[in-house]
Order: sequence, then structure tokens, then C-alpha cells
Amino acid sequence: MPSESKSFGEFDLIQRFFKTGADQMRSNSDQAIVLGIGDDCALLKPIPGEEIAITSDMLVEGRHFFTDADPGLLARKALAVNLSDLAAMGAKPLGFTLAIALPKVDIAWLEAFSKGIFAIADQYSCPLIGGDTTAGPLTISITAFGSAPSGKAIRRSGAKAGDDIWVSGTVGDARLTLAALRHEINLSTIELKEIEHRMHAPVPRIDLGIKLRSIASAALDVSDGLLGDLKHILNQSQVGAEVFLDQLPKSVSLQKQSEAIQNQFAASGGDDYEICFTALAAHRDAIDAISKELHLPITRIGRITANTGATETLQLLNNGDLLSDNQTAALLKSFDHFAK
Ligand SMILES: [Mg+2]
Repeated sequence: MPSESKSFGEFDLIQRFFKTGADQMRSNSDQAIVLGIGDDCALLKPIPGEEIAITSDMLVEGRHFFTDADPGLLARKALAVNLSDLAAMGAKPLGFTLAIALPKVDIAWLEAFSKGIFAIADQYSCPLIGGDTTAGPLTISITAFGSAPSGKAIRRSGAKAGDDIWVSGTVGDARLTLAALRHEINLSTIELKEIEHRMHAPVPRIDLGIKLRSIASAALDVSDGLLGDLKHILNQSQVGAEVFLDQLPKSVSLQKQSEAIQNQFAASGGDDYEICFTALAAHRDAIDAISKELHLPITRIGRITANTGATETLQLLNNGDLLSDNQTAALLKSFDHFAK
């Protein structure tokens, strides 16, 4: 509808697609938001005794998503990956801002996008509180704000030798989906349907993060690949780790692949948005209870070791056998290397 498109300026875009939905949500939302969309700034009022967690993620067409990506799913994922960062810190969502560059004003695209973003925002009680639109290559940038009791946000730096290492859900499915879409691997339409939501509609583990506040010693969300991300915890906590490759939680779909692909995708596939965390062995029963309560598998995949400097900080074991440094390095390689 080109004639209608031309009549939309920036203000109209915000008004039509984002402000009404934001206002409706805000009327039901947290006391922390004093002022939402419509002024020069939004105003947040910190909850007494809490700290504000802030995270930002940008998605760029062609780099983070395909050009023909479904706008509703794209919107959902753009907010989900930010909520996943809040989850990894044990923060409860407060609100988010959205900056979006659009190559053209496409009414149907914007309608689907705004519907998608408000659906997930509503699901996680995280209202839109501000933003910006401009012309440019399709780029979606979201900043999310969350809240956690003072001193209780879970950092990457708290892992200690002897802690268990855990991961939620299953890992490697988003990578398996990508492999199928890239025709690196053949999956039937039915098989693809069973797992593609893992890539297109990741579930931020907000409830898990909040429950882990008093249990986890360190945590992060798995965005770039389990082992590569775990290394961030090891670096920041100045510890080492032993990971049991055969214990990594894999979906039924991934288990149908060769052992080499299973291990590669589970160990280093990106985009899973599960929570990897460390905790004292004394918390095993509590973690099992959380797993049951949330109907979410939480699997113990290794343990934190002292970093003596004499050995590799990350050692992988497969059915009890220690992998060589070369084998470990191969598993840590990104999927692009794997594809070649
Ligand atoms: Mg993260």
C-alpha cells in the first residue's frame, strides 16, 4: 500500500504500532515505571532494596536473521534474547526500549512485528517504555531493564573449585535447525518442525533465573555455544572445569544425528538461550526440585576445578576418557568452521 506508506512519518509509526500497545500494557505493569513512551525519556523508579539490571542486544538483517524472516517471530526473538540476559542474572523484567531501523515502511510487516513484540512483552510483564525509529538497513536494537534484590544478581565471577556445572533444557537444537536450513544436514519437514522453534522462538528462562538467585554461584545464558560461553565463567571466576561431553542434554531430534554432530552441536552450537550455571554440590536436591517445579530438565554436566595454570582450564571427558587438546579445540570451534 504505497500511498498509505507515504503518509507515515516517524511519529505516526510510533503512535500507530507501538504507543497504544505500550500504554495498554503499562496500565497493568509494575510500579517501577513512572513514565513510559511519549516524553524525552522514560522514568524508572528503583524498587527499594533492589538493583537495576540493564542489557542490550542488536539484531542485524543478514547477520543475525534471514532477510525473509517472519516479522512476528523476529520481534519475539529480539526481545527474548534480551530477557534471556536478564534471566541469566536472576533479574525480573521491568521494561524495554526498542530502536528500529527500517529500509521502508511496510504496513503488514510492522503490524506483524508489533503484534509479536507485544505478545512476548505481555507474556513476561515487560512493557515497552521508549524507543526510536529511523530509515536504514533493517536493524532491531533492544535494551531491557530488570530488577534483582541488592547483591543477589548472579554474576559470572562467582564459580568456585568443587562447584557442579549445570545447564537447563537441551543444547544444540538451534544449531541443528540452522544446519537443516543451510542444507548441511537433511531433516524431514516433520523433523524440522519439531525443533525449529528452538531457533526461531527461544524461551527466556526468567523463572529459573529468579529461583537460582540464592543457589547459583555463577551463571550465564548460552548464546554463542555452551563451552565457549562456559569459558567466560571460567575466565571471570579464575577457575577451570571438567565437562562430561556424554552428559550434555540433547533433544530426541539431535540424538538421531551421528555422535560427532551431536557432540559438536551440543558443545558449541549457538542460539540455545539455556542457562548454564555453577552451584555447590550441597544444592543438588534443591536444583532437582526446581527442575520438577518448572517442568524443565536441568542437567549436571561437569564440575569446576582449581585453575593451577599447569593444565588447560577446560577439560572434556567423553565416557570417562579425557579428550586431547586438539579434540577439545575442535569442539570449541564455531559452527562456521564446522561448516567448511
Ligand atoms: Mg548473555
